[in-house]
Amino acid sequence: MTLPEGIKKFGTDAACQAYLFSQHWPDGLACRRCDGRRYWTIQPSDRTAPLYECVGCHWQVSVRAGTIFHRTQVALSM
Ligand SMILES: [Zn+2]
Repeated sequence: MTLPEGIKKFGTDAACQAYLFSQHWPDGLACRRCDGRRYWTIQPSDRTAPLYECVGCHWQVSVRAGTIFHRTQVALSM
């Protein structure tokens, strides 16, 4: 799936992010450092994709990491 196809398919950032989240972490997000299951959602003002930060060790991951959306500066839906 290409980026424009993804945008067309999901329509909204929230729907696209929910899809990416479920693809990344079908069993929920687990921290790669401490295996923690609790995390904050951070919405940086200068990025379009949220970050997830582990409550226990402050490990951060973007839902875009490793996806077609990684490193793009394009909003998930325009
Ligand atoms: Zn952690």
